[in-house]
Amino acid sequence: MSEEKLSFQAEVSRLLDIVAHSLYSNKEIFLRELISNASDACDRLRYAALTQPELIADDPDFKIELSLSKDAKILTISDNGIGMNREDLVENLGTIARSGTAAFMDQLDGKQDGTNLIGQFGVGFYSAYMVSDQVSVASRKAGEDQGWAWISDGRGEFTIGETDDAPARGTRITLHLRDDQEEFSDPMRLRGIVKTYSDHIPIPISLSEDDKEAEALNTASAIWTRSKSEITDEQYTEFYHHVAHAFDEPWERMHFKAEGMIEYTGLLFIPASKPFDLFHPDRKHGVKLYVRRVFITDDCAELIPPYLRFLRGVIDTEDLPLNISREMLQHNPLLTKIRNGVAKRVVSELTKKANKDPEAFETFWTDFGAVLKEGIYEDDGQRDALLKLARFRSTVAEGTTTLADYIGRMKEGQESIYYISGEDADNIKRSPQLEGFAAKGVEVLLFSDPVDEFWITSVPNFEGKSFKSVTRGGADLGKIGAEDKSEKDEKDESDNGDTNVDSLIAFVKLALKDEVKDVRASERLTESAVCLVADEGDIDINLERILKQHKQLDTSAKRVLEINPKHSLVVALAKRIGKDGVGDELEDAAGLLLDQARILEGESLPDPVAFARRLSTLVEKGLA
Ligand code: ADP
Ligand code: MG
Repeated sequence: MSEEKLSFQAEVSRLLDIVAHSLYSNKEIFLRELISNASDACDRLRYAALTQPELIADDPDFKIELSLSKDAKILTISDNGIGMNREDLVENLGTIARSGTAAFMDQLDGKQDGTNLIGQFGVGFYSAYMVSDQVSVASRKAGEDQGWAWISDGRGEFTIGETDDAPARGTRITLHLRDDQEEFSDPMRLRGIVKTYSDHIPIPISLSEDDKEAEALNTASAIWTRSKSEITDEQYTEFYHHVAHAFDEPWERMHFKAEGMIEYTGLLFIPASKPFDLFHPDRKHGVKLYVRRVFITDDCAELIPPYLRFLRGVIDTEDLPLNISREMLQHNPLLTKIRNGVAKRVVSELTKKANKDPEAFETFWTDFGAVLKEGIYEDDGQRDALLKLARFRSTVAEGTTTLADYIGRMKEGQESIYYISGEDADNIKRSPQLEGFAAKGVEVLLFSDPVDEFWITSVPNFEGKSFKSVTRGGADLGKIGAEDKSEKDEKDESDNGDTNVDSLIAFVKLALKDEVKDVRASERLTESAVCLVADEGDIDINLERILKQHKQLDTSAKRVLEINPKHSLVVALAKRIGKDGVGDELEDAAGLLLDQARILEGESLPDPVAFARRLSTLVEKGLA
């Protein structure tokens, strides 16, 4: 019989080395991992058999068997699931493919000790090496004749070859327990572990010891079909760990049964922490679809809307045909109904949670708010509810605010909900465009998630109040009740300079006519001399930036340059124009005003050389 020696992928060797030497105290989880794999293997075969019933014809009852040979300290875990052929064994047990283990390796980089990470990420099959000094796998893939054996002591290499000793169908994993891991050859101990971690597995798990009769270890009914009162928190959590490949405590769980037009049961979880790839374009939701307790797929995009892609768990429906193919799932009207029903339920659950425990909701929002906001423009049905849920930072609120609370704080005469957007809330808080709003005590929302730019274009208003960007169009500040009375006097004072300021503006407009759309006296500036805004109806400055970054846009809209008539620099320039008429100096000054506005906007200067020349000429003259 031909046998071959192959090397583990370098990452696997490194992982195995860590696993074998780790002092991780919770070694019992190896059994959970192996049982979970066995159960996945049965699920996959059950699904394949929907279209190829012959695959399971001679052995239709799925099962997982543990058997113990106490004196030899050998524990085997067998399943009659899908099994693995030679390629499967090399690929699945010789390389790191699954994302959880890959994430574990990423986190490990630069760290000496992976002990805590083992608990956090789990290491799947390889966790067997925490308790064994040798593992052999014998497997026969459903529908194939040849059986295969895989053996390794976990030190760099494994052997693979044909065998006559594989199960008729499925996989048998034989663990040679390490001398110091004798506890796992105690049947009582094993029963306890299975009860703790694997009771929810809907396939019967049995244990036999040497020649004693096998005993059943688990309840073997799908956990979501049981009534809530019969399920403990621990059991829910273990199930979550199993379906989500997660190791934290879920932040929230929802166990429900929808009845009526369509019937389905859901057991859904929201993780307590943000998965590392939440914004990865390939990121899928983690909800498995079952039809009448039979696993169909964990890859059905239509089941859950993308803005709820952080959900984990299962949906089990009575109403789809069992032999539904993955292709038939696309554009399926029943699935659309389920998706909308699930979305409604989850959003209303979140709303309840937000009302009951705002602080806990705030942590959830920090992790998942940016994703949830995608629903504002993707899901008409939930738009209003999501807008009510949404939290924003603002120039006034401590922490975050809801839109309703914002409206409660609006000033006399204020008609719109003002916002400013940019990459970083702390940064945009210092924007010159906010000065006039701050002076009048008008609150402005700080939009710092890229998604804000997109939903805002599809939502004209909230509870009758329109949204208005403070970097676009006129500021309308005149209509809003003045906070301090001295404002009016100030305005009168500056009146005598107005004609000069008008000439300055006319001049700057002419000098910059190729670069800006318009030049205007500003209502929104109090401290800074200049700022850039987008004209009413033009694309907002930050949105343009985002689209350019993503190469969705290659032209720039011309901006409006606003000039603060009260700023001392502007006043001085205006005086100069009144006295001397127009010269080169003023031409340079006009260019510098625009450059200054661009710098304040965080933009790069289109012509830094010209900027440097203008600046040095003017400084030189000033010094002379
Ligand atoms: P995961 O279960 O997250 O994919 P594991 O390390 O636990 O990662 O397992 C790696 C892969 O090995 C599985 O995805 C599966 O393809 C294969 N595998 C492991 N155990 C079995 C089994 N009992 N039957 C069939 N395939 C298995
Ligand atoms: Mg696994």
